[in-house]
Amino acid sequence: MMQMPLMISSLLVHAARHNGDIEIVSKRVEGDIHRYTYRDAELRARKLAQALARLGCEEGDRVGTLAWNGYRHFEIYYGTSGSGLVCHTINPRLFPEQIAWIINDAEDRVLCFDLTFLPLVEKLAPQLRTVQHYVLMTDRAHMPAQTSLPDLKCYDELVEAENGDYAWPQFDENTASSICYTSGTTGNPKGAVYSHRSTVLHAYASALPDAMACGGADVILPVVPMFHVNAWGIPYSAALVGAKLVFPGPHLDGKSLYELFETEKVTFSAGVPTVWLGLLTYVKENKLTFSTFKRTVIGGSACPPAMIRTLEDDYGVNVIHAWGMTELSPLGTLSKLKSKHANLPREEQRRILEKQGKVIYGIDMEITDDNGNALPWDGKASGNLVVRGHWVIDRYFRSDSSPLQNGWFPTGDVATIDPDGYMQITDRSKDVIKSGGEWISSIDLENIAMAHPAVHEAAAIACRHPKWDERPLLVVVRKPGQEVTREELLKFYEGKIAKWQIPDDVVFVDEIPHTATGKMQKLKLREQFANYKLPGT
Ligand code: ADP
Repeated sequence: MMQMPLMISSLLVHAARHNGDIEIVSKRVEGDIHRYTYRDAELRARKLAQALARLGCEEGDRVGTLAWNGYRHFEIYYGTSGSGLVCHTINPRLFPEQIAWIINDAEDRVLCFDLTFLPLVEKLAPQLRTVQHYVLMTDRAHMPAQTSLPDLKCYDELVEAENGDYAWPQFDENTASSICYTSGTTGNPKGAVYSHRSTVLHAYASALPDAMACGGADVILPVVPMFHVNAWGIPYSAALVGAKLVFPGPHLDGKSLYELFETEKVTFSAGVPTVWLGLLTYVKENKLTFSTFKRTVIGGSACPPAMIRTLEDDYGVNVIHAWGMTELSPLGTLSKLKSKHANLPREEQRRILEKQGKVIYGIDMEITDDNGNALPWDGKASGNLVVRGHWVIDRYFRSDSSPLQNGWFPTGDVATIDPDGYMQITDRSKDVIKSGGEWISSIDLENIAMAHPAVHEAAAIACRHPKWDERPLLVVVRKPGQEVTREELLKFYEGKIAKWQIPDDVVFVDEIPHTATGKMQKLKLREQFANYKLPGT
């Protein structure tokens, strides 16, 4: 067989050659809608590669981005990796000190950023030790009259100054292509470095029918940001299948998203559960329906079954529950039925689909006890989830030691696996509630609360207890205008879970804090309620 390295550039070249007129539509930071095609994007990515070389970038250099989902960010994905540079997407929602730390750790040579982040970058610049060029991702008309940044460059001008006479280089497919940092809830963030090979294989696998099932007939709007594990690989898998792409830019509120879904005829999307909370609230309040939106991947944190039901029953949107992490590029498992499930009653099918799902080929998993012994796949035994595969890291950036244990990557999640291979996350190991030596799944408690019609969002956390060590406390945000009492909520648990697992108390709050990737920040809640006195203590 021919020997052809798996190059990220080949995804875009393929899209330009075979789906050249398919559109990429972006709602820009500047406020308007921008449209062009894969053919245009490939040409501009080539010009960008030329421009970066002209700025002095050499193979392996990191190019940082602080940017929303948009076509310029898409060009940077390909223009950097495609030319042997490393694309470093940075989460702008992190604390500024963390952002500076990450940029210095990655030694970014160029920093590209959207207009939104100009004030942030101006503030950070004095701390950035390696950045030689600041590039504002906009056109000449939107360049600021004044800035403290030295020699600020205009992205469009850089690109347009080149002639595009550039051939994508071929090199070892194991070369680093991009880097993402985990959000580092404990200690400093850690860099996960992806390669051309791992990225292309992940793109192949994630487009499969039992994964995201993407095809050329799809119109894909990734709500998940391009700075959150490469928008779960969609910028690559969409090019692979030739799907139309719709980028929402910074406009992530329910109204803006809904309008874009409708005007661009979006069929498929992906995002964390909190995003759908916002969109669903808007759609419900305005009594709207989706005319083309049919499927969505929800992951990043446990998707409450109540959300899956609302999307399916009320809006005809099929939910694919997925589990993954930064260290896995990110896809690990997705929930789809097998042929043997076809004739099961819908309720039983749903219980299967509510799990985090089966691995896709390319990933393998196991659950182990604390001594590393494999536990049975009986859907009951829960243990430490470990994984291995073509797109799982074997070490963190700049780390000499490997996190692997006997060749497996420890995910830090606790899970069960049933005899059919469906994995269900019980908890992140640090979120488990340990009551009298028994474990209570915070996710189970949250899922039940989320099924109550008056609950907007719920987090279950461990509270210190003199007798039981820890007991569950439920923190709840009510839906606007809805009433529900502590007693009603506790009663709602009866019959749904063992009595001793029912939370000891409920507190109502206006808002639950979220991490930079939109997940409930339970660590912060635990700190907030560290001295909370449970009833009877
Ligand atoms: P960050 O902490 O930066 O958000 P990741 O996005 O890599 O990092 O988070 C990965 C973690 O998110 C997993 O280890 C797991 O705890 C959690 N997670 C992801 N998807 C799911 C899911 N479908 N259900 C439950 N937890 C999930």
